[in-house]
Amino acid sequence: MGKIAMPRSIVKVLCLMLGMLLCVGAPAAPARAQASAQPATAMFDFHSGFWVNLHHFLYMQAVPQLPPKALWPKLLSSVAMSPADTQALAQLSPTERAAWRSAVDYYASAVAGRELLDDEGLHAVNTRLAAAESSADLAGVDIPAALKDSLLKAAPIYRHYFWSRHDAANRHWQAELQPLLDHHAASMRSALERIYQTPWPRQPVRVELSVYASWAGAYTWDFVTLSSVDPRNQGLSGFEILFHESSHLLSDKMQQTIDDDTKSLSAGDPAKAGRVAGELWHAVVFYTAGALTAERFPGYVPYADRNNLWKRGHWSGPVRGLIEQDWGPYIRGEVAFKPALSKLVSDSMATAPATAKPGP
Ligand SMILES: [Zn+2]
Repeated sequence: MGKIAMPRSIVKVLCLMLGMLLCVGAPAAPARAQASAQPATAMFDFHSGFWVNLHHFLYMQAVPQLPPKALWPKLLSSVAMSPADTQALAQLSPTERAAWRSAVDYYASAVAGRELLDDEGLHAVNTRLAAAESSADLAGVDIPAALKDSLLKAAPIYRHYFWSRHDAANRHWQAELQPLLDHHAASMRSALERIYQTPWPRQPVRVELSVYASWAGAYTWDFVTLSSVDPRNQGLSGFEILFHESSHLLSDKMQQTIDDDTKSLSAGDPAKAGRVAGELWHAVVFYTAGALTAERFPGYVPYADRNNLWKRGHWSGPVRGLIEQDWGPYIRGEVAFKPALSKLVSDSMATAPATAKPGP
């Protein structure tokens, strides 16, 4: 979903909303999701981490407490507890409820107002919590003391009432996806490497599966955090999202080319050029992952189409049509990388509305 204009090195999105949690069962201890012996193992490194899930779960619960001006875009999609989580929350003893409420209040005051997608401090926290997935007490984990204190107070409650279902949901999502990866991951990798003229990361792409993963449903810095229960991330859409997010690790050359070409056409309206450059690269990433998925699964409706992203104001002008017209032939190998992007930029600049001049 709408990546908001932000530096290329940062984030990269996708959408979300909290959905049902499925399954019951799985071990209660922090654990790592099973990996397959199939080729896709070398491309992805899936995790279901206790601390990453608790961190995002507390963040999600704190969002409704934010002042209205801090809510956008967090409420673009519904941020709500699943029925199972709501039921579990009702079972907390008064003491547990007070401890849980204290942790949520801390998140509301110091964490949830910050954006998971572009806040470097939150990225550092997520990175360290991911690395600490097998830690029982976060000893030695370098995160702010008050944040650690809140996580540790909430941890026994989370482990008792929520974690087994959340972990099971993460594992279920990965298990459902694995057959698709077994058959199609290698060809997706080849296609993305060719299209973005960039090799797949040398290390497998780390994917932290979580019950909540921002309003976007998934986000990527140097690793992917992806909601396993977001209705938008299920089935073939989950396959597309996984490769969309991974594309953010390969798409710098494309984005840089768009930036350069846009600048060269910016005479007279640099604000428009900046707007076009800021929007276009992420639209290309959406289009490409969707088209490659549809190519492998005939009849599949790409994520951006299914979720109406093209018409919800995330991209101005006839962006999808231009990408299809100018970038589509490149995806099919009919034209070269640079001419395709140059034409796309030129056409986008020609059709984007001019920047409104300030009134007299
Ligand atoms: Zn994205």
